[in-house]
Amino acid sequence: MKYDLLLIRYAELSVKGKNRKKFERQLQNNIREALRDFPEAKVFRTYGRMYVELKGAPLHEVTERLRGIFGISSFSPVIREKLEEEAVMEAAHRVTEDSLPDGGSFKVSVRRINKDFPTGSQEMNQKVGGYVLRRMEKLRVDVKNPDVEISIEIRDEAAYVSGEVIRGAGGFPVGSGGRALLLLSGGIDSPAAGWLAMKRGVTVEAIHFHSPPYTNERAKQKVEELGNILSQYGGNIKLHIVPFTEAQLAIHKQIPDNCEITVMRRFMLRIAEETARRRGIMALVNGESLGQVASQTMESMYTINEVTSMPVLRPLVTMDKLEVIDIAQKIGTYETSILPYEDCCTIFLPPDAKTRPKLEKIQYYESFLDVDYYVQRAVKGIETIELTGISRETEEINELL
Ligand code: ATP
Ligand code: MG
Repeated sequence: MKYDLLLIRYAELSVKGKNRKKFERQLQNNIREALRDFPEAKVFRTYGRMYVELKGAPLHEVTERLRGIFGISSFSPVIREKLEEEAVMEAAHRVTEDSLPDGGSFKVSVRRINKDFPTGSQEMNQKVGGYVLRRMEKLRVDVKNPDVEISIEIRDEAAYVSGEVIRGAGGFPVGSGGRALLLLSGGIDSPAAGWLAMKRGVTVEAIHFHSPPYTNERAKQKVEELGNILSQYGGNIKLHIVPFTEAQLAIHKQIPDNCEITVMRRFMLRIAEETARRRGIMALVNGESLGQVASQTMESMYTINEVTSMPVLRPLVTMDKLEVIDIAQKIGTYETSILPYEDCCTIFLPPDAKTRPKLEKIQYYESFLDVDYYVQRAVKGIETIELTGISRETEEINELL
């Protein structure tokens, strides 16, 4: 079956005026970027709609790429036909055969936008339905709950015939919703959180805290890989690697064991905020989920969050671990996330971390540390890598680890 085009639908209702232009332009760019391996495919907009003209590009691969692009609500492979009754009916026949090779129920829905086309919508519905029924066995009409709906749009320039609506990723095109800095660990949660932020159109940069020699090169590679997978959903990602050893050692020396994690989190947030501020970024994103671990209780969040006035987005805050795992599997980060490695958070930390750290107490302990010194030193030591989505295979990473 040869389709010529893919018709792209997007959430036009919620986007109006100037924003709509921006939304459409961004979406078009993102689709082009996602299809850069198929230069023959053309992405264009006309009459307020968006199309991918395949020009020989493989339908299946293009479909798979489109599924992951935020801002697309749904899309359909379509055949474009000349404005002739017979040609349109024949196209409908081909599409029905393709969608229902073993028969089933169908329905035809014609929309005639071009009033110069001589046959009315209702009459055309019947004509097309009859034409297809006469040519296919084991096929019946069901207008209420058909297996397949053949939609035909008769527009000024051509007629468009399709038999399938494929669900898109929804949300907004990445790049249309500002920028945020994602605290990216090697775990399961933070990549899922980053993906959800991207779903709302946010361009993500990532920051990772690294504590050599307590954490090794492989831990860094794993985070790079996670960033690469994420970048497949929204373009290149800048990954900022923070040298965190000095601050962590100072915290370890100065702060009572059971408050260490709270203080360490506060340092992470301060360093992330300072990095964001320097890059003109206005929000942070992390993978916290309420109650998941000691540092994610309500009291902990209160005490940790106190160091920043920047919005901290927590897309996973209400999710159970299993829900997060579902997302991680769906987006392809799970297999990488579960590879073994040493996290900088686990190396110094005692098992009896406080679940209700008191802010005043933490502030008192911290007063013995030159907080600003460590924050500035860490920010200064940042190494930034540009992740372009060229990811390694999991097996290859496994060999590295
Ligand atoms: P994850 O699976 O994302 O590692 P987690 O359940 O292990 O999350 P924590 O280790 O408590 O939870 O971390 C909570 C959040 O803090 C993470 O989701 C992430 O956003 C951030 N974070 C933790 N460790 C790091 C790190 N080394 N670098 C950057 N961010 C981190
Ligand atoms: Mg973690």
